[in-house]
Amino acid sequence: MPAIDVWSVSGESWAVYYPVVYLKSMPTRNRIRSTHALVLRRHDINDADRVLTVLTPRDGKLELIAKGVRKTNSRKAGHLELFVHASLLVAQARTWDMITEVQTVESFRHLRNDLDAIAAASYVCELVDSFAESGDEVQPVWDLVLSVLRELDAGVVRHELPANLLRWFDLQLLSLTGFQPQLFHCLVCERLLEPMLNFINLYDGGVLCPDCGGRHNDAEPLDADTLKVLRFLQRQPWTVVSQVRVRSPVMRRVESLLQRYLIIVLERQLRSTLFLRRLASIPVRLEVDTGE
Ligand SMILES: [Zn+2]
Repeated sequence: MPAIDVWSVSGESWAVYYPVVYLKSMPTRNRIRSTHALVLRRHDINDADRVLTVLTPRDGKLELIAKGVRKTNSRKAGHLELFVHASLLVAQARTWDMITEVQTVESFRHLRNDLDAIAAASYVCELVDSFAESGDEVQPVWDLVLSVLRELDAGVVRHELPANLLRWFDLQLLSLTGFQPQLFHCLVCERLLEPMLNFINLYDGGVLCPDCGGRHNDAEPLDADTLKVLRFLQRQPWTVVSQVRVRSPVMRRVESLLQRYLIIVLERQLRSTLFLRRLASIPVRLEVDTGE
């Protein structure tokens, strides 16, 4: 064992070294923990296994292996579909920690029958996947994602998916992950912004007053209605936002700004290039408000 030679040379005693070897070689299969998890992504490996990327409230994003889950008689399979909120027992292992027991907590079964709701849920999971880190406690993000999936599920039952939900989600997630755009004070002179034509600089993550905005090449005009809606979505809970209708041209400008802001933030973080490509493939709309 070459490691022992190194320790002998450095003069350390065997009495110190030996327990370390012993601890490292102890079987790890007994280290089992329980967690709630939401399945964000998955890919198949080996003949019958699947690696799942899940969000957990206490440990952030984790990659776990579900052994044998693709066998036709697997009892775990139905509990580990995308967007399932499950309760797991996880055993610690060398590469991927392993799912040993699973129970469905919420299946969001209505959502699964509606293509628009599936697309929306996929967007939510991919965006969270892009922002979440492993090892972080993410209880507020967890609560947000679960609440959005519940709204989508209930929307399918009502035959009406909630308008503005995904844009509200964008702004809430940006705030929870530390990328909240500054929408109330000028980024440069810190003056309180007035309800007039201001400017927005997506690269610096906020709004500029007319004086400062006119002097910055990266800033683009931002009309008062769009700013008002952005602030509203950033500050208000869903119970309030869900009661309000926003004119579609304004909502399209909000969507365009948020998509481009997310692309800038995520590119800077070098994460989720696949999702970035998907975001970027959505045409950016730069329309003038016709007062419709
Ligand atoms: Zn200013």
